[in-house]
Amino acid sequence: MLTRRVLVSWFAAIMLLPEKLWANTRKKSSHRVAPKAAHPAMGHHAGKAAPNSLQGVRAPAVSRNVAPPRPVIMLDPGHGGKDPGAIGVSGTYEKHIAQATAHELHNILQSSGHYDVVLTRSEDKFIPLQGRVELAHKHKAQLFISMHADALLDHNVRGASVYTLSSGASDRQTAFLAKRENSADRFATASFHGLSPEVQQILASLVTEETRRGSAHMANSVVSSFRNRIRLLNHPSRHAGFMVLKSADIPSVLVEMGFMSNRLDEQALRQGQHRQQVAQAMKQAVDAYFASQKNRLG
Ligand SMILES: [Zn+2]
Repeated sequence: MLTRRVLVSWFAAIMLLPEKLWANTRKKSSHRVAPKAAHPAMGHHAGKAAPNSLQGVRAPAVSRNVAPPRPVIMLDPGHGGKDPGAIGVSGTYEKHIAQATAHELHNILQSSGHYDVVLTRSEDKFIPLQGRVELAHKHKAQLFISMHADALLDHNVRGASVYTLSSGASDRQTAFLAKRENSADRFATASFHGLSPEVQQILASLVTEETRRGSAHMANSVVSSFRNRIRLLNHPSRHAGFMVLKSADIPSVLVEMGFMSNRLDEQALRQGQHRQQVAQAMKQAVDAYFASQKNRLG
């Protein structure tokens, strides 16, 4: 029991406390504005610090006029480096498809000027699953999107789908996918292998209701945006215990853009034009998600 209590306080300290701090400072925005001053695109808002002699006169007016910070989105291309992910029927590596599409989406979102977009990896390198979640926290992301194109045992199954976190899987296919994905850490040398089911349960229980709601909302947004544009799997919104979705305070979804195990999905995902369509549909989903968040929060 002692072990459990220690673990709970440890995870609460690293995951829940920052969320509270973030929530307290969110409305004031001053906490998040300062680091943005270093961002080149924000230069015209933030500029250089005013000379000391002017601070007393100008400071209050300037702080009221500062533009609200742009939401930070963490895009996570699945796998990488020594972990190729799924290997397609004609030999395509999932890690390359994930990286190419995430880059496409990164460019589209970033050039809209509405978001600050960060990638967990911009090159072909291995990052353990927990490291991906930690990166999202480090960058204070407001949305985490993991991008994949895995393989299923049934090669006839095709279409895109989107996954959110739950302790049990919505169906057998999803349970299989989550097991495969979580085993990506077999490539890691860290001690992350050692997590007992009890600790995993604690991690899952720390995911707040608010985060769950946000994740579900984003998942719905992806499905609506894909409909009529990108072929979808039957019942495309699913859930399971994906390790990479276990952020306590960041709404997170995992998108399977199609399956490497299906010849037609693999063929489509190899084409830049198709990946661009996927990225455009994702961008629309992100826009709809943040628009609804803004309305909800007033
Ligand atoms: Zn994958």
